[in-house]
Amino acid sequence: MNHWINIKLPIPKWLNTWAIGIPETLPDANQRMSLVIDLARMSIKNGGGPFGAAVFNQHTGELIAPGVNWVVPGKSSLLHAEVMALVLAEQTLGSYELASHGSFELVTSVEPCCQCLGVLLWAGVASVVCGAHSEDAQAIGFNEGPRSMHWEQELKQRGVSVTREVMRPQAVEVLQSYTGEIYNSQLQVSNRSG
Ligand SMILES: [Zn+2]
Repeated sequence: MNHWINIKLPIPKWLNTWAIGIPETLPDANQRMSLVIDLARMSIKNGGGPFGAAVFNQHTGELIAPGVNWVVPGKSSLLHAEVMALVLAEQTLGSYELASHGSFELVTSVEPCCQCLGVLLWAGVASVVCGAHSEDAQAIGFNEGPRSMHWEQELKQRGVSVTREVMRPQAVEVLQSYTGEIYNSQLQVSNRSG
């Protein structure tokens, strides 16, 4: 019989060296998105999925934690870029609830899927900033899952601000450059959320 023990989520080592030299604060939305799109590019280069995300202090622009899509190399369906960034931010701040430590912003190269929407809500971010549309990810075969059509309004109703289409063309370019594995593709047609 298996002996179940605490799990460790695999975080790529290069993420630590990538963070060296990043300015202490990124006050502008485009600067933050540019960093996140760079993460998506680095992820592809290192065998991960074409998605990047990061948690910032909303007001100062301090980078709290980065994330990349590491589902395939990490062998875990949890490891979407947003989830990795949120889990690392929670570890950095020592809390499962970010809102009790200030206002934090999740910047993501592509709009969140059904899993990431749930995690970002429970993590307590104040703001979500997205680059590419979900449709852009679906166009290369990824599946966003059974997400409410009204996700943007539902987040706003819960006090989470949503900003879309920040540097969308650059985020789409990274998606379209991806030639790696498309996981969950068997769910793609039936679960498309549009
Ligand atoms: Zn996701």
